[in-house]
Amino acid sequence: MAFDLEMIRAVYAGMGSRIEAARTAVARPLTLTEKILYAHLFGGEVKQAYERGVSYVDFAPDRVAMQDATAQMALLQFMQAGKPTAAVPSTVHCDHLIQAKDGATPDLAEANTENKEVYDFLASVSNKYGIGFWKPGAGIIHQVVLENYAFPGGMMIGTDSHTPNAGGLGMIAIGVGGADAVDVMAGMAWELKFPKVIGVKLTGRMNGWTSAKDVILKVAGILTVKGGTGAIVEYFGDGAESLSATGKGTICNMGAEIGATTSVFSYDEKMGDYLRGTGRADIAEAAAAVRQHLRADDEVYAQPERFYDQLIEIDLNTLEPYVNGPFTPDAAWPISEFAAAVREHGWPEKLEVGLIGSCTNSSYEDITRAASIAAQAVSKGLTVNAEFTITPGSELVRYTVARDGLLDTFSQMGGVVLANACGPCIGQWARHTDDPKRRNSIITSFNRNFAKRNDGNPNTHAFVASPEIVTAFAIAGDLTFNPLTDTLPGANGPVKLDEPRGVEMPPLGFAVEDAGFQAPAADGSGVQVLVSPSSDRLELLEPFRAWEGTDLKGLRLLIKAQGKCTTDHISMAGPWLKYRGHLDNISNNMLIGATNAFNGKPNEVKDFSTQGDGYTTVPQAARGYKSLGIGTVVVGDENYGEGSSREHAAMEPRHLGVRAVIVKSFARIHETNLKKQGMLGLTFDNKADYDLIEEGDTIDILGLTNFTPGQPLQARLHHADGDTDLITLNHTYNEGQIEWFKAGSALNLIRLKESGSA
Ligand code: SF4
Repeated sequence: MAFDLEMIRAVYAGMGSRIEAARTAVARPLTLTEKILYAHLFGGEVKQAYERGVSYVDFAPDRVAMQDATAQMALLQFMQAGKPTAAVPSTVHCDHLIQAKDGATPDLAEANTENKEVYDFLASVSNKYGIGFWKPGAGIIHQVVLENYAFPGGMMIGTDSHTPNAGGLGMIAIGVGGADAVDVMAGMAWELKFPKVIGVKLTGRMNGWTSAKDVILKVAGILTVKGGTGAIVEYFGDGAESLSATGKGTICNMGAEIGATTSVFSYDEKMGDYLRGTGRADIAEAAAAVRQHLRADDEVYAQPERFYDQLIEIDLNTLEPYVNGPFTPDAAWPISEFAAAVREHGWPEKLEVGLIGSCTNSSYEDITRAASIAAQAVSKGLTVNAEFTITPGSELVRYTVARDGLLDTFSQMGGVVLANACGPCIGQWARHTDDPKRRNSIITSFNRNFAKRNDGNPNTHAFVASPEIVTAFAIAGDLTFNPLTDTLPGANGPVKLDEPRGVEMPPLGFAVEDAGFQAPAADGSGVQVLVSPSSDRLELLEPFRAWEGTDLKGLRLLIKAQGKCTTDHISMAGPWLKYRGHLDNISNNMLIGATNAFNGKPNEVKDFSTQGDGYTTVPQAARGYKSLGIGTVVVGDENYGEGSSREHAAMEPRHLGVRAVIVKSFARIHETNLKKQGMLGLTFDNKADYDLIEEGDTIDILGLTNFTPGQPLQARLHHADGDTDLITLNHTYNEGQIEWFKAGSALNLIRLKESGSA
């Protein structure tokens, strides 16, 4: 913590001059987003104005957080950098791999057995490289970050899409892929297209059943799942200041559901309260001292329509509770219209399970508000008509709410407390059901509700609402129930639920016996990273080979992919996620979703590595060529590699011997990922040359000995009939990226520099 305070003070010390320089550069007042971003430029100095939605900019985030599923490959890669410690404060959180089945204690015990090798690896690699390790059961990454690391005006990246949760404490927190985390931990710049800024002005004060969750559920309805793409959503107004920091966190968390880069609130007293309540009074004091840097300039708030790319206004006085779903978080229904929607669409009216908690909604305030409803089930003699589960976001929250008797209240209404982990939110849910084929409804206080997300069952209609609305619905067991207006049959006749009552901060303070944190060794040089050589889930990486110094001749065409080829087509998710820490095993999914242009089929390519030139799978063919020492080429169509920043989509081809990916156009992030892995990502100068590629081609890549920024390369295509074609290939490599190619990968180059050999 002391180290954090030092780091935070350093950030604040540099903010004023950078913001001033940025204001001069852009020649207008600044939004909060711009202040924080300009204060975090890589290299520090503000040299120019950047155009929102256009300029690509290098940033230097203050910290990195990783969850256990994505941390595996990120840390295996980081080991390749040859650094003694991570360049910025970083943490690992064991939350995604715990399956919810019978309750917190047995589920955690099972996860510790089932995932032992993964946890042992993550604990040991964290210990070695100065990375904080949060054990299984310690909590969910975003809640733990909010409680311990988020700070106003900071910037962080996290290898999980709901990293923006930290915006509740005024931090620009962005969800990224593992490769980005590796860059920042290795001390490299982190690139982002300078985002647009959407302003959301909140006025008034919430009352009754309405909560912070309803703000974002309404915003999701307005902006839809794509409306925030490429933008940071900035909340302001007197209504924003009335929301607790954790309520703000909920709103920022679910900004991911509208595709926003992140969301953020300006610093206010509620944030100060939360910082003080979680043992960080010194940070609250430091933030208050630079308060003017942690909010937009006054002119922005005076005329927001001039300075935001889009402006939304919401009056909290009249905001209704919302229920969003099914199958998409932007199908937003005010509670007054929800019952009619349920009937009209024929969604299953009987509610089978209500689930509260998760990283989105398990603050003390959330739990107290939900518990105030649960208590009425008992006091008013109501029958509870659906199953009910509670997922605390962290051990700090769990211990505190248990101490204050709130978990007992839930137990009395039949609730089951699950481990402090993702569980049902990410499909880690062994749901007890008598008939999985039955169309059924559940309601959660989580964030995502896509088909199959919670229980893998396409027949499950999942709705999202605040914890108190979920609790009321669980008691009713009926989706057409409106807790604001309807009654329920009580022991002595119909009863109405009273409005929820919550407490923002625990009156007795937060408490915990074992928060589940393991600090890293002060000197990790002697720590051994634990990976069993016989593991099928983890494998230490070997550095990729450096460029041989010559043109690449005699490469075989592996596949000419036709049409859409996303990172999911290149490296499928689903059951393969189990192998994300084992490059060789997960490579068996390489390009199995891509359509072969020559036969229109996925995962069926001609294999010229064998005598018979028969058809085989893409990974099999690649392994055949690799075993003969023959490099390969992947050819693709437009926007190749769109989708996610999944680094496996670049690492797998590299591992299986692909030397160049030649396409009509790239999705930018994937193109960069290929470069980082030391591959050639090239585009046809003449897109029609795609049609010249034939099934039996061998390909030479020419011009590499003079590989220079802005200078095209060439490829000579040797067709099976003896003809050849010479085509021009463009590239976007800058000098640094050419060095990555020559070294075999970006991490190889860092390692060489670290050891003084480059
Ligand atoms: Fe992601 Fe859900 Fe876990 Fe939050 S609780 S980190 S949304 S899987």
